[in-house]
Amino acid sequence: MFATKGYATHGADQPLKPFSFERRDPTPRDVQIEILFCGICHSDLHIARNEWGGTTYPCVPGHEIVGRVVKAGREVKKFKEGDLAAVGCMVDSCRTCPDCEEGLEQFCDETVFTYNSKDKHTGGVTYGGYSKSIVVDEDFVLRISDKLDLAATAPLLCAGITTYSPLRHWKISKGHKVGVVGLGGLGHMALKLANAFGAEVVLFTHSPGKTADAKRLGAHQVVLSSDQDAMEQQAGSFNFILDTVSAKHDLNAYLELLKRDGTMTLVGAPPELPPVGAFPLIFRRRSLAGSLIGGIPETQEMLDFCADHGITSDIELIAIDKVNEAYERMLKSDVKYRFVIDMATL
Ligand code: NAP
Ligand code: ZN
Ligand code: ZN
Repeated sequence: MFATKGYATHGADQPLKPFSFERRDPTPRDVQIEILFCGICHSDLHIARNEWGGTTYPCVPGHEIVGRVVKAGREVKKFKEGDLAAVGCMVDSCRTCPDCEEGLEQFCDETVFTYNSKDKHTGGVTYGGYSKSIVVDEDFVLRISDKLDLAATAPLLCAGITTYSPLRHWKISKGHKVGVVGLGGLGHMALKLANAFGAEVVLFTHSPGKTADAKRLGAHQVVLSSDQDAMEQQAGSFNFILDTVSAKHDLNAYLELLKRDGTMTLVGAPPELPPVGAFPLIFRRRSLAGSLIGGIPETQEMLDFCADHGITSDIELIAIDKVNEAYERMLKSDVKYRFVIDMATL
């Protein structure tokens, strides 16, 4: 084991603060990464504050990690010392179940998430990217382009893949009308990606001030969700709606906006949601679905797609001692459009 440091929270109502802990020495299959940047996902806040239940403290959040390889075990093939590398939401899985065989490790029963999962190596809990250093099996380490801004690449590891994967799964392309609900970290990546896939893109927001930014980020139209008339004008017109909202909100109003056979997919994970009515689904044979991050092969595909198309996140780079402030701003929907921690400030 070797000593490292990061930021952790010690309880649901506690702020994050400096924390010293140990990482395993790299095994022959491991890559040791010096973390340069880590994005702040709303899931970090849900978990740090135990909003989903099941948080083990102390908790070091962070699963949008980019950095540089400082050590590579002798069996490691894809990375060598000095390479850029990235880690997303998972660091291991069973490798043998049908989901793992298909590269859909996020659905494995034994997925080891980057933080707040049981750590097979130490017997403790996994600690995430709000830290100096991380050690990960090379199969769960991603390659990133040196052509893109590194700090702005970090959010691709969760916000990027979480929006890329459902847009690909539901085969979004030219000729489709796509709605994106919520303009935060996930929402702004959804606008960029749906636009890059050729769709007509409409943003639904509950914040009056985001119209100009949304258009710059790839929305063709912006609808304020509190504007009843504007909502009704969109009725029955969407092939697909991606809901990225982090807080309790009504889904029925959005289901009504789908065409026949249209699908609304939840990626936002509010701890609680109001009931969904039967009628918005029955009429026009609509579907309500969910989607969880994306597998390792698709995450690499997304990173390569973003490198080819010059797509990164719009970020606010912050010092790590501003992380608690960033959480408060995230709760006020005041994120433009992802906070990224500059780990040099740790
Ligand atoms: P975020 O940056 O905080 O963005 C969430 C957005 O939701 C806000 O910017 C806001 O957009 C909207 N919103 C917030 N409160 C609202 C309310 N009361 N009513 C209506 N809209 C509201 O969060 P994020 O990092 O993008 O994450 C979003 C959600 O996705 C979180 O629940 C997170 O845990 C989840 N998530 C899921 C996955 C997955 O695999 N499925 C992966 C990552 C994250 P407007 O101001 O435009 O309305
Ligand atoms: Zn995330
Ligand atoms: Zn598995």
